[in-house]
Order: sequence, then structure tokens, then C-alpha cells
Amino acid sequence: MSIQVFGMPVSRGVAIGRAVLVASSRVDVAHYFVAADRVEAEIERLRAAREAVAAELSALKRDMPAEAPPELAGLLDVHLMLLHDETLAGATKVWIRERHYNAEWALSAQLEVLARQFDEMEDEYLRERKADVEQVVERLLRDLARSVPGKAGGVPAPVAGAGQFGGEEPLVLVANDVAPADMIQFKRSVFTGFVTDVGGRTSHTAIVARSMDIPAVVGAREASRLIRQDDWLVIDGDAGVVIVNPSPIVLEEYRFRQRQSELERARLNRLRYTPAVTLDGQPVELLANIELPDDAAAAVEAGAVGVGLFRSEFLFMNRNGDLPDEDEQFEAYRAAVVAMQGLPVTIRTVDIGADKPLDRMSPQELRHEHALNPALGLRAIRWSLSEPGMFRQQLRAMLRASAFGKVRILVPMVAHLSEVRLTKESLARAKQQLDDAGRAYGRVEVGAMIEVPAAAVMIQRFLDEFDFVSIGTNDLIQYTLAIDRADEAVSHLYDPWHPAVLQLIAATIARANASSRGVSVCGEMAGDAAFTDLLLAMGLRSFSMHPARIASIKQRVLRADTRRLAASLDAVLSADDPARQATAVFSAFTSR
Ligand code: PEP
Ligand code: MG
Repeated sequence: MSIQVFGMPVSRGVAIGRAVLVASSRVDVAHYFVAADRVEAEIERLRAAREAVAAELSALKRDMPAEAPPELAGLLDVHLMLLHDETLAGATKVWIRERHYNAEWALSAQLEVLARQFDEMEDEYLRERKADVEQVVERLLRDLARSVPGKAGGVPAPVAGAGQFGGEEPLVLVANDVAPADMIQFKRSVFTGFVTDVGGRTSHTAIVARSMDIPAVVGAREASRLIRQDDWLVIDGDAGVVIVNPSPIVLEEYRFRQRQSELERARLNRLRYTPAVTLDGQPVELLANIELPDDAAAAVEAGAVGVGLFRSEFLFMNRNGDLPDEDEQFEAYRAAVVAMQGLPVTIRTVDIGADKPLDRMSPQELRHEHALNPALGLRAIRWSLSEPGMFRQQLRAMLRASAFGKVRILVPMVAHLSEVRLTKESLARAKQQLDDAGRAYGRVEVGAMIEVPAAAVMIQRFLDEFDFVSIGTNDLIQYTLAIDRADEAVSHLYDPWHPAVLQLIAATIARANASSRGVSVCGEMAGDAAFTDLLLAMGLRSFSMHPARIASIKQRVLRADTRRLAASLDAVLSADDPARQATAVFSAFTSR
């Protein structure tokens, strides 16, 4: 039977595919397809892991002290039995053989199937056996981690990309939650869509999904409970709806919409190299937001005239606690700078914390993160200033990259003038260290993100201190309205149209323009066509967004007349319902 699950649209378009359910705790398990000629080797990898775990369990049983409770030996027997049970071992092989999943993915897929069966059991004793299966799978995963493909003695490197197996069926990831650090691993992955139970529209998980330009729905509360492994799903990324096992008529309707959006995309793509100039001749800078150096190629391809935000913290994730040193960071920044072919690259110093914790954080630190309010905690520039050695290392790496092109440094979440002073001192020290070492660097502009209301209110002082500012609307909305941007329970209150938010943005842009300082918006508002007219009316001429959004925003810019837009700005800013007012006044004279 077809059902619908509702959530929040975070990345547009329609995706149609088979559901792949992934437990949150196992999202970081590798997901890739193995090439047809490596399937038997992958099954052999699984068999070897099973043997190793069986030997481990038998040894545990053999060496059990005499005084150990007898149930313990019984438990080990249960685990040994589960290890060889066909519903685990046999079915996992089928995922590998028929779907070409790697062993880890196949195991977690089968675990999801079994976990559901256990959950539905009437008998409490049997229901509790789920924990045993989980423990056995955990042991197998641990053992498989020792024979990761590509490592010496392991099987060859994985084949990534959809359609490697016979069925060629697209896949859609369904999970309770996906941390931004895990989401980034899916960037070059096999999934054509995402659904998560939790998350807000501008949570970093949603932002990364958007940057992948594939349809996604977050905050679909019951999705991972209602959807089953292998169900057919339609993700309507515009409406925020997931249709589970759609009827043939509904499916056909969505296939039609999918084709329509592909045509629309191709049409917009033709604007790629058209300069973004308004009807009244105002040039507008459309920049790209990137997470990894490789994204720079997509930015150039999309016609971006530079990178307005490189979220450098993603270089610090998924590293099992080992952080990138100066040289590694330098290589990453240089790669982005070189890929941008002379266009400016704005690198933000790490914005660690809140929903982007470092994986090197100890369990105690993580508890701390969870117990208190992480969005108000030691994040972004606060974290960098608390780790001065690491901060200078990052600054040195950025400075060194400036010898290869135009680099701008952007400081996140500044609110205090003391943070400005300490940042400048760190930068001066980093330069001195490079001078002492005889290393080259170029002239680098330094800017502040305006994303805390305190900074927006005292914007003039920040403009005096910095070369440019970039408005981080995602956090500015979060902190102005006291709404956790990652919490779907309050997402209905996360309102970019709130008059207080608009007034802070308008004042920041006006003051920056009056002070002849560069100002751009790099939050999600910049890539949302619903705000383009309004931001142009406020005097914004620099927008930074996911590369995939550039063409749509450019189309909007090409049709705008900024003089007429500006004349209606006050009416919008003073309205109780600015969204309605903006639609009424701006649409009257924007050519469509
Ligand atoms: C913002 O807050 O608007 C922003 C661009 O930074 P991030 O989304 O990474 O917090
Ligand atoms: Mg921010």
C-alpha cells in the first residue's frame, strides 16, 4: 500500500529509487558497489570475517573463568549460532551477490531487516535477541575494518557510482539522522536522494545534501520506521513529501516531473557564462559555497566568479581524531585556489562545534556538547581562539595558498571586539612565522561573518576592523529568533522573513555599502530565489551559494530592476508580513 511521509524540503527536485535504510550508528560504514568481477572476493572477505569472529567467540568461551555465570557461556553460544544463521550470513551474501553492495553495507542492510523483524515480535525474550544480532554484526564490522579494500593485503579499491550492478536501480538513503561529517562522505556516493527523520532546513546535514544537488527531505519524523528496506520511494524535494511504494499512476506523474526539471535545468545551464547584470545595468557577483577543494570544479562549471565560502571544517572531519596538519591544509587550499583559475577563494577558518563536532572530541567533550547548548558553546572562532597553535597553523596554510591566487580569510561567528583583536594578533604571528621560515604569501583580505545579532547591531565597528563582511543568514536567523536550526521541533519558527532578521540584514548591507566595504550573503537565503529581489533591493550585489543554485539566481538577477526594487524596500521592511508584502510589491515590476 502506498503511504506518504511529510517532512521539510531541503533540496529540490524529484528522486525515484529503492530505499536503503541505514541506522544512524552505521551511517559511517562504507557504502560502495563492488565491481562484478570482485563479488566473489567480497563474499570471501565476509566469510573470512565470520571465521575470525567465530574463532574469537570460541576462544572467549574456552578461556572463560570457572566462576563466570553460566549464562555467559550460553550467550556466546547464541552469538556463534547467529553468526552462522542463514538469515544473517546467507541473506548478507545475497545483498553482495545481487546488489553488489560491499560487505559492510550488505551486513548493515541485513541488520536493518532483522532489527525490524525482532521489533515486531510479540515474545519479549525473542524481541530482546535483537541486541545479540547487533553485537554479532558489530564484531563482524570491526573485523572487516581490518581488511578495508586498498589496504595492503586487502581486496582492490571499491567501485563507486550507481548502476554497477545488474538492476541499475537508483537508491535513496533513509536514516534517522545523518551527521554532516557522514553526509560529506556521501558526496560522491551512489544515492540519488535522502530522507531523514530529524533535522532542520538549514542544519548542516541539509546544507550538504543541497550542495550535492539531489532531492532531500529532512525532519520526516517517522520515515525510518515506516519505510522498509528496498521499498520504492518518490522524494518530492520541492514539497517535502516522500511517497512510499507509489501507484503506477503516481509514479508516472513523478517521472514526468523529473523529466521536466531536467529540461528546466538544461535551459538554465545555458545562462552559465552570461554575466549577471540587472536590467538597470548593475553587475552582481554570484559566488560559490564549497565544502571540499574538489567542489571548486563544480563552482567554475556553474559559472561562479569565485568562492564566497569554503567551509574548511569539513577537512577536519572523518579522520578518526587525526587533524590535518599545516601542509595538508595548504595542499587543500592551494588545490581550491588553483582550480578557481585566478578567481577569488574565500576560506573560512574552521567552524567546528554545534552540529559539526570534531571526531577527535573525547566522549566527555561530546557529552558536554550534548548536555549544554552546543550552538551557544565553544564553536567557530571561539574554538579556534581556544586552540591558538592549531589556529595559527590554519592561518599559515591559508596564507601560503595565497601565493597561488587570490585568497580571502573569513572569520566565523565573531561577536566581541576582543575576538577581532586576538584574531589579528594570531594572523600577524602566523605571517611572522612564515617570514622567519622564508615562505611566500600574498596579500590577503580578512573578513568577518555577520551571523550573531551582536555583530549586526554594532556593524560599524566591525566594518572599521575588517576588509569585508559576509552575512551568515543561517546562524543570524538561529540566534536572532533563538531557534536551533537543526531542531525540527521548532523548525516552523525558523523564519527568514521575520522582520527583525530582515532589519538586521538590511542595516548590515546599507552600512557596509556606505563604508565602501565588500558585503555578501553566504547563508542559504542567497541561493533562494524567493529572496533575490529583496536582497537586491537592500543593495546587495554579492551572493554566495551552492553552485547548483547559481543559474536560477542569475535568471532572477537578469530580470530585476534594482532602482524600482529599492523604492519598495521600506514598505517590505515595515510590514508585519514581509513575505506577502514582498510578493505584492516586487512582482509588480520584475519582468518574468
Ligand atoms: C551561515 O550561518 O549562514 C553560514 C553560511 O555558515 P554555516 O551555515 O556554515 O553555519
Ligand atoms: Mg554559520
